[in-house]
Amino acid sequence: MKKFYCKCGGEIFFENRLCESCGRFVGFDVETMSLLTLEPHGEVNYRSSCGRIFRKCGNWIDFDTCNWLVSEKSNHRLCFGCQFNRTIPNQTNTGSTPQINLFRWSRLEDAKKRLLYTLLTLGIPLKNGWESPEGGLLFDFLENITIDGSDEIQPVTTGYANGIITINILEADDVARGQAKSNLNERQRTVLGHFRHEVGHYCWEKIFSHLPLAEYFGEVFGEPKLSYQASLNSYYENGPPNNWHDAYISAYASSHPSEDWAETWNHYLLIYECLETAYELGLVDESPSSTDIFGILNRWQDLAVTMNQLSRSIGVNDAYPFIITSRIKEKLNYVSSLIESFKKRTLQEMNSL
Ligand SMILES: [Zn+2]
Ligand SMILES: [Zn+2]
Ligand SMILES: [Zn+2]
Repeated sequence: MKKFYCKCGGEIFFENRLCESCGRFVGFDVETMSLLTLEPHGEVNYRSSCGRIFRKCGNWIDFDTCNWLVSEKSNHRLCFGCQFNRTIPNQTNTGSTPQINLFRWSRLEDAKKRLLYTLLTLGIPLKNGWESPEGGLLFDFLENITIDGSDEIQPVTTGYANGIITINILEADDVARGQAKSNLNERQRTVLGHFRHEVGHYCWEKIFSHLPLAEYFGEVFGEPKLSYQASLNSYYENGPPNNWHDAYISAYASSHPSEDWAETWNHYLLIYECLETAYELGLVDESPSSTDIFGILNRWQDLAVTMNQLSRSIGVNDAYPFIITSRIKEKLNYVSSLIESFKKRTLQEMNSL
């Protein structure tokens, strides 16, 4: 994540609505990928320091779940990021407590916006499923359904299918997520990690599987046509192989090649964003955008050790409780090659216009 500064010189952060130093409104502009200082301009509009006029996103005005801006020229009430929502958590008084759902939604929205930021930084094209029903992306934030008159609950499964990412909103609750992490014996379970993982399935299906490099997927991750349901059932019944650490970034990655891809992709995004942040803070000498995967992984190794040592000094769990073996490096290298190959193709297409 980049460092942002208010017009007053104070540092402002990606999720901020106000500058802590001068009290001015600040909001994120996706066009310039920056957090802008705003001055009121008329009744509902705001002027940025660069002279452009914006409105606050509708979800900022109605629910305070967003801090992104809408250009005055846009016909949309919602910002670029909020237009990816298909279903938001129930905000009425029926069902579960609205305050809790508002909190959950805010958490999910923060993670989703961070994900979109990283994808855009990487040059991944993003279209929502409303404007592009074939190739676009949409999010359903759903809660478990309680069957009337019984204790029975119909659980919602977090997952991806046909351009739709479904997130069970309970993932935004620390206790529920901690319980799931413990039940599934996971090293780490985060809201942002869910978003990164699921968007990995989307990016593979809609973007990378169409590249020539896609033919090597099987060599890197294993035969993708392996029956998905049977593999998952077997994983949940028998657990991962004993030596899974050698080849997989997480136990779950061993359940099926497509889950291995999504877990590896998730880690690539995690490493990329952390290194970008570290570079902005002056902790590493090169931005991940100006080095190759080997430069990225070398710097990441040192940084991850530093973060883990700091975590232990604080008394919390290791910030990065994973080991990147040479086999996992090969998989991360493949993710990186796909992104590079996609960017090259896009550039060639633009040049040939
Ligand atoms: Zn300020
Ligand atoms: Zn918004
Ligand atoms: Zn998955």
